[in-house]
This record gives sequence, C-alpha cells and structure tokens, in this order.
Amino acid sequence: ILKIEHIKKEFKNNLVLKDISANVQSGQVIALIGPSGAGKSTFLRCINMLGKPTSGSVYFDGKDLTKCKDKELDKLRTKMGMVFQNFNLFNNMTVLENVKVAPIKVKKVSDQKATEIAHQLLTQVGLDNKADVYPSSLSGGQAQRVAIARALAMQPEVMLFDEPTSALDPEKVGEVLSVMQDLAQQGMTMLVVTHEMDFAKNVANQIWFMDDGQIVEKGAPKEFFDHPKTQRAQDFLSKVI
Ligand code: ATP
Ligand code: MG
Repeated sequence: ILKIEHIKKEFKNNLVLKDISANVQSGQVIALIGPSGAGKSTFLRCINMLGKPTSGSVYFDGKDLTKCKDKELDKLRTKMGMVFQNFNLFNNMTVLENVKVAPIKVKKVSDQKATEIAHQLLTQVGLDNKADVYPSSLSGGQAQRVAIARALAMQPEVMLFDEPTSALDPEKVGEVLSVMQDLAQQGMTMLVVTHEMDFAKNVANQIWFMDDGQIVEKGAPKEFFDHPKTQRAQDFLSKVI
C-alpha cells in the first residue's frame, strides 16, 4: 500500500533522512522506534508530504506523492489519517463536530450521514457520551481518542501515529493503546512511532528501528526484541527495557 524509495530529507545542510527505502503492506502494523532525534517524526511527515522529501519517492496506491499536483495530493492525503502527540482538536467545536467536519467539508458527505458515522466512531472509542462537550473539558486520553475517531471518519487506508501517548498521564496511556489495538485487530494498516515497547512487542507485526536518519534494522517483534542484530539496536534496547 506504501512504497518508500530512497527518500532523503535535508534541513539546511543537515541530512536528517539518509536514503530510506521500505514497504508497507495492507493490514500491517509497523512500530517505528528509535532514539530521540533519529528522524522518526521527519520520516512520518515525509510519508504524508507534510514535509516534502528532498529526494526520493513515496508511492501510495501506486501514485508517487512527490510528483502529484496539489489537487491530487490533497485527495490522496485524505486516505491517510494522522494522529499527533498533541491531539490538535478544534477547540471551538464540540467533540461531535470535530469528528464530522472533515467528511462534510472534504468528502461532501451529508450532515445526517456524517453525524451517524461520527456517533459510531465515538462509540468505538468509548466516548459517545462526550459528543456534545468541547475539547477543553476532556482529559488527555479522551482527547486523543477523539483525535483517532476524527482521523477514522475519513475512512483512511492507512493510519500514521506520531507518539500518540507520550503527552499523556501514565494512567491514560492504556485507554489510547487499547483503541489502537482494536484498530489493529480490525485490520487497519498502521505506522506507529512509539516509545511504548509493550505495544511494539504485542501489537505490531513489524518493527522498524531507526537511528541517525536510517532504518537500521527491520524485523518481527519477537526476533527484534529477543535477538537484535545490530549493536545500535542492542544499545537502544538495553536503555529502554
Ligand atoms: P523524538 O523521538 O525526539 O521525537 P525523532 O526521531 O522524531 O525524535 P525528528 O523530530 O524527526 O526526530 O528530528 C530528527 C532531526 O531533524 C533532529 O536533529 C532535528 O533537529 C531535525 N529537524 C527536524 N525537523 C526540523 C526542521 N523543521 N528544521 C530543521 N531541523 C529539523
Ligand atoms: Mg518525533
């Protein structure tokens, strides 16, 4: 579903991504892990063109996103849901409005249909009882679950998560991971930057370990955690586990 070919990203003579190639198959759950500054967020942003790669290609549904015109790119990007560390909900809209606004504005779904879908998704993340409140009255974990519902409302083919739980109080982390685990079980294709090693171990079916602008090691979780091949992965794991 995604094919990343030789992407590089440079910021003012600082090469942050150094020639990365990788594929994501439909239904895969990939945990992207690695030390701070490795380039994980930059990599995710290159995949959905929030930051255009300096060179290389990103194929999504067979189209090279780096070569798409704006209009086509906008259309393809609606099929990629993105969830950030800091939720980014619209504070002037209720929870329900947050979830239904994009389908109505971008996909021209009727208000009635969008409302119906929004209630379904809020039920799925356990928050339909909060439909009419404003984001300011939600806990961090609740806000993040609304952000996930909002991304799902566009019926994405892929979900990209950038440290979705790292801004949360420890006791709220589980409720968000559990929603993500459900999504994975439903077959959603997911690329998740995370520091939650239990999630990476138990939910992901591939680990991509990034260090210094490269994917240094790719593998099945068990293999990676039990027998990391590279010294860099061994050093990283010895610090985080
Ligand atoms: P963390 O785990 O801390 O989130 P990360 O792996 O996500 O780290 P990135 O945020 O991708 O790392 O950053 C990788 C490198 O790119 C860092 O050295 C950072 O300073 C640099 N960088 C990221 N964004 C920019 C930018 N917009 N302009 C200049 N340099 C940037
Ligand atoms: Mg980051």
